[in-house]
Amino acid sequence: HLSVSNVCKSFGSVPVLVDQSLDVEEGEFVALLGPSGCGKSTLLQIINGLVPADRGTILLDGKDITGRTGAGRGMVFQGADLFPWRTALENVAFGLEVMGVGKAERLEQARHYLHLVGLRGFEEAWPHQLSGGMQQRVGIARAFCIRPSLLLMDEPFGALDVQTRDILQDELVRIWEAERKMVLFVTHGIEEALYLADRILVFSKRPAHVLREIVVPFERPRREEMKLDSTFLE
Ligand code: ATP
Ligand code: MG
Repeated sequence: HLSVSNVCKSFGSVPVLVDQSLDVEEGEFVALLGPSGCGKSTLLQIINGLVPADRGTILLDGKDITGRTGAGRGMVFQGADLFPWRTALENVAFGLEVMGVGKAERLEQARHYLHLVGLRGFEEAWPHQLSGGMQQRVGIARAFCIRPSLLLMDEPFGALDVQTRDILQDELVRIWEAERKMVLFVTHGIEEALYLADRILVFSKRPAHVLREIVVPFERPRREEMKLDSTFLE
């Protein structure tokens, strides 16, 4: 269970988050939508402990993790954010290294997840040798590799072609269903949110607050249902 309570954050005199609270239940997939600049990435980075909140608390399974990185969370960053001095495989293995997993085992795990995202043969490539979409896929593999209980994903499929995106969306649903993770997923695509999420939170413009909460009324799998039904979005 993730519990975000009364998080406040300003940059200088600009308030970005004001008393932001939200919960993600065990095994729940929550999508976050909202206008550019409203504070979605900031909120994810606060939950991940990479940006300090001015106020508020983050509890993960009852433990106070406010301002702390690591433990139980995997993050896919908007724009991948790979370590340029590490190969694709080493990037994926990074989290396991931090966790103290031995070299042979972490490289084997990393290879598995790199293959899962379709990058067999790119183990030794440097980030700058990969396209934006491929870097994004390495970022996804890196987050999956530590098998976190909470996956924070910031527009992870933004830089991908439609076919790869569909494959990875289905892969994400498969992993999520098998392991009952919590997912907090930022996207600009209402259709993607409806396809993936149990619940959608729509943020207002800055300072962000929840304008609407939509409980998605479809069962999985729902890609075909979404296609047939996409007219209701227009
Ligand atoms: P997008 O959909 O474009 O990714 P977002 O909802 O993720 O937008 P954030 O990146 O969280 O938006 O930014 C929210 C606001 O906070 C923006 O106005 C941005 O300029 C500001 N901001 C974010 N990070 C910083 C920072 N490190 N220093 C100053 N201002 C920042
Ligand atoms: Mg963002």
